[in-house]
Amino acid sequence: MEPLIDFVAFGLSGWEWLGIVGYTLLVTHITIAGVTIYLHRCQAHRAVELHPVVSHFFRFWLWLTTGMVTLEWASIHRKHHAKCETAQDPHSPQVLGLSTVMWQGADLYREAAKDQEITDRYGHGCPDDWIERNLYTRHSALGVTLLMIVNVLLFGIAGVAVWAVQMAWIPLFAAGIINGVGHYWGYRNSKSPDTSKNILPWGILIGGEELHNNHHANATSPKLSSKWFEFDIGWLYIRVLALAGLAKPRALPPTVRVDPTRMQIDAETIRAVLSTKYEQLARVSKLAAKDLSLPSKELRDGFEAIWAQRSLTLEQAIAALTNWCHQAEASGIAAYQDFARRIRSMHLGGASA
Ligand SMILES: [Zn+2]
Ligand SMILES: [Zn+2]
Repeated sequence: MEPLIDFVAFGLSGWEWLGIVGYTLLVTHITIAGVTIYLHRCQAHRAVELHPVVSHFFRFWLWLTTGMVTLEWASIHRKHHAKCETAQDPHSPQVLGLSTVMWQGADLYREAAKDQEITDRYGHGCPDDWIERNLYTRHSALGVTLLMIVNVLLFGIAGVAVWAVQMAWIPLFAAGIINGVGHYWGYRNSKSPDTSKNILPWGILIGGEELHNNHHANATSPKLSSKWFEFDIGWLYIRVLALAGLAKPRALPPTVRVDPTRMQIDAETIRAVLSTKYEQLARVSKLAAKDLSLPSKELRDGFEAIWAQRSLTLEQAIAALTNWCHQAEASGIAAYQDFARRIRSMHLGGASA
């Protein structure tokens, strides 16, 4: 009788609560890493190429711990970027309300996953091999059932609680917090045409996905942090994998350099402004929010109007920006004069590290 009671109480591992909590944090973190590195950056955006062994490890792990199917996840997410904040966005808190996306995010995902049109239209390039069709997709719920058995074998009755935490992790942190809060609360480095926010500057708990505004401003960048004070743990893992020859990230967007001796507006300036367009729009927006005078508002509108034009030749862009800088310098508003000086000194450096 005693070994049976022992087994029910502690499982095969015999671990007490500290070990079990540590285990739970580790396995849920691996799941988050799988979502951000494999599903999001590799599959949905092709921002990083993974070695087949790494790629398959994550595919297996996500089947075992979440039951999510790569094709469904990647296509729903691509549609989110394509239709962001419209009625067709599969999970917009601006359209559906924050609490719906926060607490019913997993239902929204399941609902969208049933829509074959989404996978047909947005599912290109996702895995479609034998094991995908016959195991991971056909028996998508089998993995989490096995996981329950493994947990109970390892930890006895406490294994059920570990399993429950694992089942709640992705619906809460990915579907709820990133898709909900990431389009609701936080700060913006870039004035991207959506409401995406950076929730926290330190992307550890949800693998870097905290930096959701940076991601929307530059969706194909494998790195989600952009300011010196921001940290993206997913990017750290990708760099470690790359050092081991197991990942090939896409080149990072070039960084803009500021050279006060330049002071001219040419093709280089336009390239630098265009590559950081949303960031420059955010800066001007902030200037206008601080100075509510009419000239300030006109300067902001004028700056926005230049970059809102659909077909703008290089010559037209140079002329329009030169003209705008003259107006800013003549405005007598110090903040705009500084901004115009900064624009004139901008050029593109090499890719950032
Ligand atoms: Zn988003
Ligand atoms: Zn994305």
